This record gives sequence, C-alpha cells and structure tokens, in this order.
Amino acid sequence: TPLTTLVTSDDATPAGEGWDPGAVHGYPGELSAMLIPAQALQAKIGELARAVAADHTLESPPLLICVLKGAVIFVTDFARAMPIPSELEFMAVTSYGSATSSSGVVRILKDLDRDITGRRVVIVEDIIDSGLTLSWLVKNLATRGPAAIDVVALLRKPEAVKVDVDVRYVGFDIPTEFVVGYGLDYAERYRDLPFVGLLGEHMYR
Ligand code: 5GP
Repeated sequence: TPLTTLVTSDDATPAGEGWDPGAVHGYPGELSAMLIPAQALQAKIGELARAVAADHTLESPPLLICVLKGAVIFVTDFARAMPIPSELEFMAVTSYGSATSSSGVVRILKDLDRDITGRRVVIVEDIIDSGLTLSWLVKNLATRGPAAIDVVALLRKPEAVKVDVDVRYVGFDIPTEFVVGYGLDYAERYRDLPFVGLLGEHMYR
C-alpha cells in the first residue's frame, strides 16, 4: 500500500445538521469542515514512523529536526510512534511573504543547538505548500555535513511538485486550500485542534 493518502475536497465533512467540528474544542462556528479526522492522522503517523524507522538502524538513530512552530504537534506524536529511538532538535525560520504564502527568502530565528556532522537527519514538516522554505532549509543543512537528509511531511499541497526537494515520506496529499489544526494556525489560533479542518470563509480578515 502506498504511504501517501490522497485527500480531495470530497473527503471534507462540512459543518451543519447539528454538527460543528470546532465546537467541542472551543471554536464554535469557526470551521466550515473537517478534512482529516484525528484517528486518520494518528493512523498515518504510525505508518510514517514505521517507514522512517525501517530506513534507520539503532547504531545511527535519526536526529529529528522540527521546524517551529507548525510541526511541533506532529513531531511529538511522530517520535512517540517510532519503534526506534530518535533525538530531537528545533529550528525556527521565518520566510518573508504574506500570511498565507511564502517567498523563499528565509531567515533563521533559532538555529540548531548542536553540530549535525555525520548525523542522519530527518526534517519534520507539517505541510509543504510552495516548498520554498523547505528547499532553503535542505540546502542550508547540507552545508553542515550530515550523513543524510530526509524529509517527512504530514501534508503536501499540489504546488509542491514544482520544488526541487525529494520528500521521501508524505502523509497526505491535500487540495490547494488553507487548512488549520494539528499544529497549523491562522493568526496563531487552531494549532491545538487534534484534526485538520477548513476555516469558515467569514473567519478570514
Ligand atoms: P511553503 O514554503 O512550502 O510555501 O510554506 C510552508 C509553510 O507555510 C508551512 O510550514 C506553514 O507554516 C505555511 N502554510 C502553508 N500552507 C498552509 C495552510 O494551508 N495552512 C496553514 N495554517 N499554514 C500553511
């Protein structure tokens, strides 16, 4: 079975008929649909974790590089689902652009705390849209002499096919829509939702 699941707009369960996906989490009336339920995310994270683990050995455990802040929720579930040990590092970058798209001009806000020379690193990403941020990151880390650089992304949008980065592990291919939840925010809100959903049109300001 393929690792990546295709999710289309038809898979979205719209709010309505007495059902409001955000309500129990304190966001009543704000989401228009559920796109990927929590159980589906967790099942996929298990698959991704086993796939990544199968490509590593106990002798050289992967160094997970979490790109703040969006990937925080994903990486904590991912590391705990892996049947082998891993180590965890954080990096914060900002890419200039609008609130909902990036330009590829990246600046480091917080760098890694240690040397990655000779390490097998796995970049853990929440979502790849244009892929510009990721492309910059892979090139930046490559200059530091790691033994390998792999990328695991929970979500990927169609635009990402244009980018030069080989993303080895992808959870879901999703439509070109702005999604929130499971680490992904809109103006810092909704990261705490355990599922991925669509924001109601009236919430964009
Ligand atoms: P890229 O450089 O691939 O265009 O952008 C990647 C970053 O943009 C992601 O790490 C995420 O922070 C943000 N982003 C891209 N698409 C979405 C989306 O649908 N929802 C949210 N909340 N953020 C997104």
